[in-house]
Amino acid sequence: MNHSDDPRPVVVVGGGLAGLFTGVELRRRGVPVLVLDAAPEPGGVARTITGDGYLLEPAAGTLMLPHPVLSPLLAEIGAEMRPAAPAARRRYVHTGHRLLEVPASPKVIATPLVSPLAKLRAAAEPLVRARPPAGDESLDAFMKRRFGPGMGEMAAWLAASGVFAGDPARLSAAAAFPAITGLEDEGGSVIRGGIKRARRRPRGAPRAGAHYPVGGMTALAEAAADHLGDSWRPGIEVRSVTGGPGAWLVEGDEPLEAAQVVLAVRPERAATLLGGELAGILGEAVSAPVVVAAMGGTPSEVPIPEGFGALIGPGTGLYTRGILFESSYAPDRAPAGRNLTKIIAGGRIHPELVDWGDAEITDLLCGEAERVLGRRFHPSHVKVVRHRPGIPQYELGHGEWLARIDDALADSPGLHFAGWGYRGVGVSHLAVDAVATADRVTG
Ligand SMILES: Cc1cc2nc3c(=O)[nH]c(=O)nc-3n(C[C@H](O)[C@H](O)[C@H](O)COP(=O)(O)OP(=O)(O)OC[C@H]3O[C@@H](n4cnc5c(N)ncnc54)[C@H](O)[C@@H]3O)c2cc1C
Repeated sequence: MNHSDDPRPVVVVGGGLAGLFTGVELRRRGVPVLVLDAAPEPGGVARTITGDGYLLEPAAGTLMLPHPVLSPLLAEIGAEMRPAAPAARRRYVHTGHRLLEVPASPKVIATPLVSPLAKLRAAAEPLVRARPPAGDESLDAFMKRRFGPGMGEMAAWLAASGVFAGDPARLSAAAAFPAITGLEDEGGSVIRGGIKRARRRPRGAPRAGAHYPVGGMTALAEAAADHLGDSWRPGIEVRSVTGGPGAWLVEGDEPLEAAQVVLAVRPERAATLLGGELAGILGEAVSAPVVVAAMGGTPSEVPIPEGFGALIGPGTGLYTRGILFESSYAPDRAPAGRNLTKIIAGGRIHPELVDWGDAEITDLLCGEAERVLGRRFHPSHVKVVRHRPGIPQYELGHGEWLARIDDALADSPGLHFAGWGYRGVGVSHLAVDAVATADRVTG
């Protein structure tokens, strides 16, 4: 379809990062677009919270840059990014007994993260011929098949914690971590695939490192909204999307006729806006509620080592999945002389935590932080945020679910879905997805 001939806009419902990026990409291609959001401000779950001089990112906090798609997009909207302090390279794992610094390199094999026998088995991964099963394989099963039960359990748990606050036995390895399963497809083994991929990297190409937006993710979202100009329409809650090919009606306070519609809201919400078969499929989406707590204070109140943060290993019984050492790698997130941590807890294993009161959550998480850090932990600044329905979970059958959505969409050309509910929960995935959605809109 030639959009220059159609005066009706493409309407993007949702002004979280996914909807904003899709709007920016469509505008760049000269497509008339409106991005609507029910909230008065852009950014969705990634809206920064400030208080007492601390800055909490309740959702996305760091982006790995440079990135071939995200970096140009950030440059286009004029988002000011800052590299994380070198401390960001130091990462820790709490094993239940102690806090171990774990290098993100093959040297990890030298750490006492798992037993010597488990390390030997993991080192033999390139020789392991066990082929993938015919159907979808869980992250836990995949990692154990490749690296053996000891290292496999550890790797699956940490990956599930760090990205999804998920359950490794329920996450689909291929849907949740396609970059890792792709290494086996490519090299016959994860390690051999990794070596092959590293050899293909152009010499001298910069390695991606953690960056964060100056002024917080809200500043990044506002830069995108400013870039959109009068295409950005906050404070409009959409109640239904009806119609069909070539003539869509987006109903909020006032009905809007749209040439095409991009639903950049989570699948559970998209289901309530649509009827029919699609709504049924979208309604099957699984999410895990998480609690994010900012805890700050003097170095003696909040004692943290230098580093990016600590993931909690399997079998500890803790509700905490990870503790980020915010002020260590992003010093401007705390007042001078103060430390800040961001604790992520609950998730798929302990979804009940979001229903607890602030005081109970604070008590529990301070006790757990004390156990993880091995020091008294009594913050003077606390802010508890609850994400409901929470982080989308790409569990077993997710790939097939996406295929069912695509099949159902064949009857509704001009309707598209975007956002973290579908093909990647990280912000860089949303940028890649925005380009793919714009291709479909203009294709
Ligand atoms: C604890 C946590 C940590 C994270 N850390 C990172 C990280 O470090 N790096 C990273 O890359 N990613 C991270 N993420 C993921 C990242 O935050 C998300 O991928 C991203 O913010 C999701 O954006 P979205 O636009 O898809 O969804 P949302 O932010 O949910 O946006 C949806 C928007 O739709 C609007 N909306 C809903 N219904 C309607 C309606 N009916 N009418 C109009 N508007 C509507 C909502 O108001 C909202 O603004 C993290 C997430 C969490 C929870």
